[in-house]
Amino acid sequence: MRSITTFDIQYAHRFYKFQGEAQYLHGHTGTLTIEVEDNVEMGVNMVYPCNEIQKVAWNYIKNFDHALILREDDPLLPAILDVYEKQGIKDGSKNNTLKGPAFDTELAKAYPDCRLVVTKETLTVEGMIKIVYDLLKDKLNIAKITFTSGCNAASAEFDTAKKIDRCPLCGVALDENGHCYKCGYQK
Ligand SMILES: [Zn+2]
Ligand SMILES: [Zn+2]
Repeated sequence: MRSITTFDIQYAHRFYKFQGEAQYLHGHTGTLTIEVEDNVEMGVNMVYPCNEIQKVAWNYIKNFDHALILREDDPLLPAILDVYEKQGIKDGSKNNTLKGPAFDTELAKAYPDCRLVVTKETLTVEGMIKIVYDLLKDKLNIAKITFTSGCNAASAEFDTAKKIDRCPLCGVALDENGHCYKCGYQK
């Protein structure tokens, strides 16, 4: 069975060197849907509590919200950073509180202080799915990710053969010591 959660992100990007309007900087509301698959954890009669999927995922995904997402070779990147620097917001501002961990993977690097994500590939809906799966694959048994943005949409299915032990009292993943961070249950 699957537990499914959806959330929205607001972001700006462009397709550098793309032959079309999308090569100009523009913004979207993107909708990300994550499907977590496993047997039903009988203690809670759920696969995984959806609000907990949201918390695990949002911790990373919030780096993309109200963010600028640019490819690493895009010449807009140094130009934007120069403006942010001169304005004094490159290294953060007191109102910039929606920050996740500063992840750095093969596909993307987050700079939470200036709400910027630099990607290896053009950030299409397909590209977003690759990045999100890579960030979350060890934390959740993800069976499917769907991302829609404007009239673009993509989805991908993933193998969920791995076993993630969950708490029988609240359904969230236990840590490597069999401990539940939420309710203190010990396996
Ligand atoms: Zn776009
Ligand atoms: Zn628990």
